[in-house]
Amino acid sequence: MGTQKKGTHLDLWQDSYAARAHNLRESEIRALFSVVSRPEVVSLAGGMPNIHDLPLAELAEGAKELVLNHGEQAMQYGSGQGWAPLRESITEVMSAEGINANPDNVVITTGSQQALDLVTQLFIEPGDVILAESPSYVGALGVFNAYQADVRHVGLDDQGLIPEEFASAVEQARGEGKRIKYLYTIPNFHNPAGVSMSIPRRKELVELCRKYGVLILEDNPYGLLGFEGQTMSPLVELAPDLVVYLGSFSKIFAPGFRIGWAYAPPAVRDKLIVASESAILSPSMVGQMAIHAYLRDYDWRGQIDSYRQMYRGRRDAMLDALATYLPECTWTVPEGGFYTWLTLPSGMDSKAMLSRAVTELVAYTPGTAFYADNQGHENLRLSFCYPPADEIREGVRRLAKVVEREIELLKLFGSQERH
Ligand code: PMP
Repeated sequence: MGTQKKGTHLDLWQDSYAARAHNLRESEIRALFSVVSRPEVVSLAGGMPNIHDLPLAELAEGAKELVLNHGEQAMQYGSGQGWAPLRESITEVMSAEGINANPDNVVITTGSQQALDLVTQLFIEPGDVILAESPSYVGALGVFNAYQADVRHVGLDDQGLIPEEFASAVEQARGEGKRIKYLYTIPNFHNPAGVSMSIPRRKELVELCRKYGVLILEDNPYGLLGFEGQTMSPLVELAPDLVVYLGSFSKIFAPGFRIGWAYAPPAVRDKLIVASESAILSPSMVGQMAIHAYLRDYDWRGQIDSYRQMYRGRRDAMLDALATYLPECTWTVPEGGFYTWLTLPSGMDSKAMLSRAVTELVAYTPGTAFYADNQGHENLRLSFCYPPADEIREGVRRLAKVVEREIELLKLFGSQERH
């Protein structure tokens, strides 16, 4: 039997696991959960939506009506592809972003996280290349890692992913004889970078993907959360044949039902359905029917509007506090979504700094969580979705104290502490 690592449980089956099981890592965010859920800590770390203002009494009425009048269907297994009436209403949600979708090509999943898993399971053999923005969503990187993909990051700036860098990453990987399976991108209100891809870049990128024959996995859970009500044409509308698109109710309604979806060209859709049936048989009927009733009976567009206003207020509080307390740093200015991406002064290490931040009762996610290749030491992600504005200000004030002390230490001792 192999040697047991310090601090892990004794595992009789240590030598039995598949190679891919050794690639499963606890997410850096989950590791933080126990600490940041202490009430005295201001958490700027997680991506939990603020669902405080949801009309719970009305939702409870709806749930009661659902179980009383449609209980036998709601409590039963359903179709592997997802319940047809909900697939129909999902196309309405997609049309709010200008996507003209066909319900036949929608596959309902257990959150878009399951769709990420299914697509990766379908396409990736160990060593296959996935191109992803630099930085990229930690939960997607976890999936890619579990399937032993070779993730290559492609540069991004305040206009989103840089098409020329995408082209050179493709050339580079192909020059090495690698198989590129897809580009994973979050064009709208990026997690964690807080930026959106400009319209000209979307067109350029789609043309490049067509030229190189690269599939696009477009992840869009935040697209309806533009602070001015603005939406930007998703890539799938530009090139439906090249894109597997992922949507979710988690941020525009609530994550508790765990309902998301994939929208894919028919051949990929068929494979997704079979893969999903083999994983879960069918998505939760009660969850699907509850969301369908919500979309049918409730002013969901109005709810999204009120989310936008609430998150805009929190974004403003975050940016204001950063300008007041952290002039030595730079950050992105998000026009929607949940996050801003902060760059610390050169030589600092956000991961090493985290324990000191938690001592000062503030938490964030270190930049390294958003890279497959150990970049991001000088970055961190700040979320403004969950704490109210006054807590955000207080959190940033506490963070600034920690950063200032780190700068002093750096002046005294240099950056060797990182290694
Ligand atoms: N993609 C992105 C970019 C996300 O931020 C999240 C949630 N944080 C997900 C996918 C997964 O969302 P869900 O499974 O709740 O739909």
